[in-house]
Amino acid sequence: MSFPERLIEGYRAFLSNRFAVEQGRYRELAEGGQSPEIMVIGCCDSRVSPEVIFDAHPGELFVMRNVANLVPPYTPDGAQRAVSAALEFAVQALKVKHIVVLGHARCGGIRAFAERGDPLSPGDFIGKWMELLTPAAASIGPQQNHSSLADYLNHLEHTSAIKTLDNLMTFPCVRILVERNRLHLHAAYFDVAKGLLSVFDPETKIFASVAGGGHNQLFAQPRF
Ligand SMILES: [Zn+2]
Repeated sequence: MSFPERLIEGYRAFLSNRFAVEQGRYRELAEGGQSPEIMVIGCCDSRVSPEVIFDAHPGELFVMRNVANLVPPYTPDGAQRAVSAALEFAVQALKVKHIVVLGHARCGGIRAFAERGDPLSPGDFIGKWMELLTPAAASIGPQQNHSSLADYLNHLEHTSAIKTLDNLMTFPCVRILVERNRLHLHAAYFDVAKGLLSVFDPETKIFASVAGGGHNQLFAQPRF
């Protein structure tokens, strides 16, 4: 067995840097338990780690990641348990105040749905999972109605995040708390190349940047 050297190096760096600084916090969290106020539902994609994007400390974010940051609608028979279990724990036990569905650009899962290629294995697990995108895809019309494949995928990535909020509301424990104003649902989108985060505004129905002047300032500076 050869444990990846990259992980050993990374762990050693963590020990001497982050853990050295935050040791007290880790100890407190170990003894007192976690109490994050925010759950993030993100994609497995290695470029969109919520802890990195939101500069989170240990104990701050309760993160669930799956292919294309999806939530299947509520089913009382308990099917698709991984998502339901994480959601139930976040809402009922941790009593998080916010759930953020974090979509992103260039999502391989969304692209797989759009291209509908051959299954990667006889189980076609990705194909079956991505069927959850069908309602979002139906709402934006066929690919031919868009100016390009990139435009279609971009639209589908955004719409899917919004539809996932609808699916979250099918869970009774979520709906009740949202209606009581004790839980807030958000859809956000991360543009990988630009590092730009935008958040869906239910009033205007658009995703708007939340970076303020910081993002423009960063990109206005000479890069080289
Ligand atoms: Zn993705």
